[in-house]
Amino acid sequence: MKKILNNLLTFFNTENDDTFYYVRIERNDKCFCNSGKKYKACHYPDHQKKSRVAVKKISETTGEEQIKVLSVKRLRKEYYRVKSNVN
Ligand SMILES: [Zn+2]
Repeated sequence: MKKILNNLLTFFNTENDDTFYYVRIERNDKCFCNSGKKYKACHYPDHQKKSRVAVKKISETTGEEQIKVLSVKRLRKEYYRVKSNVN
């Protein structure tokens, strides 16, 4: 029984590991939805209305990128994960 519990804990720990960071999608960047439009001309107004922010979630181990739309509140809580966009 204890073993199962430990396995579960390991599972949750790997889900919440610290090996990723966020890069914000800037208004002048291409939108994440592949519309070919800039973010500010595409999803940005909608996100702004809903207090949401599009970010790239980047794994530090694999470099894998995932698009996430987070609330501004959530991103503020995780500000330490946000790295500035390096061009
Ligand atoms: Zn879009």
